[in-house]
Amino acid sequence: MGTLFRLVVYSQAPADSAARAAFDRIAELDRTFSDYNEASELSRLCRQPAGAPLPVSADLFAILQISQDLAAKTHGAFDVTLGPLTRLWRESRRARALPTADALASARRAAGFAHLHLDPARQTATLLRPGMALDLGGIAKGYAADAALNRLTQLGFPAAMVSASGDLALGDPPPGKRGWTIELAPFGDATATRTTLVLVHAAVSTSGDAEQFVEIGGVRFSHIIDPATGLGLTQSVAVTVVARRATVADALATACSVLDPVAAQRLTDASPEPVRLIVHRRDPVALLTSP
Ligand code: ADP
Ligand code: MG
Repeated sequence: MGTLFRLVVYSQAPADSAARAAFDRIAELDRTFSDYNEASELSRLCRQPAGAPLPVSADLFAILQISQDLAAKTHGAFDVTLGPLTRLWRESRRARALPTADALASARRAAGFAHLHLDPARQTATLLRPGMALDLGGIAKGYAADAALNRLTQLGFPAAMVSASGDLALGDPPPGKRGWTIELAPFGDATATRTTLVLVHAAVSTSGDAEQFVEIGGVRFSHIIDPATGLGLTQSVAVTVVARRATVADALATACSVLDPVAAQRLTDASPEPVRLIVHRRDPVALLTSP
């Protein structure tokens, strides 16, 4: 998943083998969800001929179902079928040049959550258009953090935290504490007040362009795709979502980066589980001045 996972476990008994099992679970999900690894289950699904259903694992089906549900609720602001566009955008970021109009148009034709069909009865996934590609980068780390925390809890180590850079899953509090103290670093402005959260059985995800962005022709673009343009977001945004599960927090943080502030608030307010949205920064347009 292109990141480091870190586990923190409090216990009297040695936690080494439980930690090993939690890391193994993360590695298993990486092998399932990766769009870099040709051998992953996700890559196999993407190689399936258009219109041919493929039976998929419980993990892949579950993450796709949550993704499709959020895609529908956000009218595609969050959309794991943007794979052809995220791939094209990775090349653009590397080359520091915008894609050609032709390349952009053909990637856009192969994207769109309406072209991914899930059949819960058969647990199959069908890509309805040729050239489709799925990218779980906006949700997989949260899903893996939840799964690792579940594994630790099942093995008798519930006082644990799983962190994957911007995504945290938190279990029972550390001994003698009310909860896990999470400090959100201020973005850009070092004088801004820090937000401190004390949380149990919760998840925190931060999304935005603070770390990953590219400048092309004086414009700053994020690594998050704006489905309206097919290119990276140009508004500078950083949001944190606190939720019960890291899967939800991760996906909502990505979605809220794309949505306008009113739609983002409406989305989190309407969530079936309690969710808190913290907006650190949202600039209308980030135009850079040449040095
Ligand atoms: P990070 O990977 O920095 O933690 P996010 O959780 O916001 O940040 O995920 C960003 C990733 O999500 C991108 O690198 C890409 O793989 C994928 N992605 C980009 N745009 C979208 C989008 N509009 N909807 C869903 N996933 C997206
Ligand atoms: Mg995310």
